[in-house]
Amino acid sequence: MKKIIIVRVCEIFLKGKNRFYFVNLLEEHIKKALTGFKFNLSKLQMRFLVEDFLESDYQKIVEKLKKVCGIHTISPAVVVDSDYQKIKECVIPMCENLFGTFKIETNRADKSFPIPSVELSRMLGGDVLSVYGKNLTVDVKKPEHVVKIDMRENGKSLIYTQVIKCVGGMPIGSSGHGFLMLSGGIDSPVAGYMICKRGMKLSSVHFHSYPYTGEAAKEKVVTLGKMISEYSAGMTLYVVKFTKIQEAIHERCAEDLMITMMRRFMMRITERLALKHGGQAIITGESLGQVASQTVESITSSNSVVSMPVFRPLIAFDKLETIEIAEKIGTYETSILPYEDCCTVFLPKYPAIKPKMDRILKEEARLDVESLIEEALSDVEIIHL
Ligand code: ATP
Ligand code: MG
Repeated sequence: MKKIIIVRVCEIFLKGKNRFYFVNLLEEHIKKALTGFKFNLSKLQMRFLVEDFLESDYQKIVEKLKKVCGIHTISPAVVVDSDYQKIKECVIPMCENLFGTFKIETNRADKSFPIPSVELSRMLGGDVLSVYGKNLTVDVKKPEHVVKIDMRENGKSLIYTQVIKCVGGMPIGSSGHGFLMLSGGIDSPVAGYMICKRGMKLSSVHFHSYPYTGEAAKEKVVTLGKMISEYSAGMTLYVVKFTKIQEAIHERCAEDLMITMMRRFMMRITERLALKHGGQAIITGESLGQVASQTVESITSSNSVVSMPVFRPLIAFDKLETIEIAEKIGTYETSILPYEDCCTVFLPKYPAIKPKMDRILKEEARLDVESLIEEALSDVEIIHL
């Protein structure tokens, strides 16, 4: 008997001509995620089997696989020879901690095995009940637990009870490369995770306002970036010094347009970085109407300075829905740590909620936009996460 992990891919992507592309890409990412562990990876039709790992690495490997985009579910399983006695010796201890209703489900690819699937399931069910009959009853229609027996053609059977849901979506790189505007807040890490799930490789850009925002604020973003990078199969973080731009806006432009102006600079700089480093889209954590800078008018104004597509995965999310995902992916606790964001520096008392384009353009004309951007781009810190 040996422990393995069955890895399943979403079948929708496996129907078309591209299926080998998706499967091969996913194979690469599984290997990358498990770098440093001893293991073997093999394909079993459209599934993968992770085998030959050290028992002590087992849980760590499961945790890594849970963050690989494109994997839908995994099942920790055991492999035994397809022999009734051996299968029984495996199935019974697996049921030790199960309570309630159960069924045994056999899939017999190996037609040379003498007992038909239904009969084998029934016999094994009887074996389980003879030991754990106090805890378990059979329910073939809607059982709480299913013990699966997958009899392979090679004379081996895979046996498992657990199906663990993973990220799902598509393998990283199958949907291009995007640039995430990453703040230290709750929303943007979630937006990054969601776009990774669609197979988009991420880089991220953070705007830092030293000395108004301190080293701790930057470290917090690095920590969040590391968490997201696990879904993106690695990520580069570009840290842009934003202070000079903010001071220029603060000095020369109408106070109520501070955030509007800042957003326009952020978008332009992010687009320039993306163009330089192979990015094809910008991603933000904006949600419609959440704050003054996220009204349709504000979004129109920041969107109009770039020509790259801007993806806003959270646009229709309530904050609570976003928090739920942040908790699930583990970024929430870090995101709520107290910190200053560059947007809280020079925060106007009454930010424009519906900024008018002609006014924005008039105010912006007071600045040398191009040279401010060039200067910011000339001194970008690059951190590989
Ligand atoms: P978040 O929780 O992601 O900070 P938020 O609800 O606080 O979002 P805003 O502060 O209005 O919203 O920011 C909107 C979006 O602008 C963010 O989701 C993020 O994509 C981007 N953004 C804001 N501040 C920064 C920053 N300092 N660096 C990079 N991107 C930023
Ligand atoms: Mg914010």
